[in-house]
Amino acid sequence: MRRDPFIKIDQLIARWARGLAAPVLACLLVVSGLGLAGPAVAEGPAVTSAKALVSNLRLGEQGDVTRLVIDFGQGTSVPQNVFTLADPYRVVIDLQDVNFQLPAEAGKTGRGLVTGFRYGQFQEGLSRIVVDATGPVKISRHFALPAQSGFGHRVVVDLQAATPAEFAQSVGLGRPIAAPTAAAPPVSTPREPTADIDRKRVIVVDAGHGGVDPGTHGQSGALEKDVVLAFAKEFGAQLRATGRYEVHLTRDTDRFIPLRERVNIARRQNADLFLSIHADAIDRRGVSGMSIYTLSENASDKEAAALAAKENRSDVIAGVDLHGESSEVTDILIDLAQRETKNFSVRFARTVVRNAEGVTPLLQRTHRFAGFRVLKAPDVPSVLVELGFLTNRSDERNLTTTSWRRRVAGALVKSVDSYFGERLAEGTY
Ligand SMILES: [Zn+2]
Repeated sequence: MRRDPFIKIDQLIARWARGLAAPVLACLLVVSGLGLAGPAVAEGPAVTSAKALVSNLRLGEQGDVTRLVIDFGQGTSVPQNVFTLADPYRVVIDLQDVNFQLPAEAGKTGRGLVTGFRYGQFQEGLSRIVVDATGPVKISRHFALPAQSGFGHRVVVDLQAATPAEFAQSVGLGRPIAAPTAAAPPVSTPREPTADIDRKRVIVVDAGHGGVDPGTHGQSGALEKDVVLAFAKEFGAQLRATGRYEVHLTRDTDRFIPLRERVNIARRQNADLFLSIHADAIDRRGVSGMSIYTLSENASDKEAAALAAKENRSDVIAGVDLHGESSEVTDILIDLAQRETKNFSVRFARTVVRNAEGVTPLLQRTHRFAGFRVLKAPDVPSVLVELGFLTNRSDERNLTTTSWRRRVAGALVKSVDSYFGERLAEGTY
């Protein structure tokens, strides 16, 4: 029989239940925070019932094992997949069709081999828990426990430290679910300058982050993914109301979309303009104001480079397996198309700065450059707007206020109008 590091504690529980254990044993249980019985359901294919509710995720340590216990408040779900990812070291647990209702502080602190975790929707019908590890780890086992003794259904995942070689052998194993990707369309040829003057311009509005990736957060707990979604909806509605634009939102619910897919949506829709909406955060609370970014491999300044690195982490935060994905577009034709696209992006960014002046506070040197992955559509002028700083009290208040959203969305609509107006006047459309 395989030696089970948890059998001892399970036996103690059994004795305790029979009233034989000393108080010190009960104490041990509380400290350990572990599941209360041995494996009851073998590892196997996913079995799901109606939408289940995850009510907590607890961490415990026993010897060299760090145990994660996922508590279900109602219903049951068995992980569809549990696997590790590198750069940085993470463990991903995919569950089918669950809702989350964890304590607010859940995931902010770690224990044993775990430094923290995040959770949320990853794809339609698929939820994800992303666990940050202190170093290379292996999943020694995972199993489900049926509801019993006052506990609901639980899923247990045991982690142990691994050598880098062991980790490299198992990384990504367990059939990670691929990010939804549809082939990007080829780079389009320029439209006939006058053939489609009357057509509606296509605008893709991208609310950053979402689902398992919350983005940054404010002092009062406002999440970037929520404030940018509210803004994107308001902006989209105002654009549509003009009757001049066909508007697509990359997301209109709290769900995660990989960066590459956001770019592909813009290209599939043949977008004339792509705006990615975000909110910033910084440890200096006095810093405030809106800023706008266009693509450049050479960042305009250190802060812009750091911001791009942070925003580009979205896929990492959500546990997307980027293994084998080429990060740069190398095709020479794409390069040429991109140069013209960049010029239009810069023009639009400057227009936004002009129109936002006096409507909302602006960060000094409002227009900056950096290597944001979400701005890499070679044939769609693209900008990334940081609406303000959630770490600044006044900005956070603005970002969560309906009237501010209306005003700033209005300034962006004005910018879109004058950008296309100018292009029409000069015959570049
Ligand atoms: Zn962001």
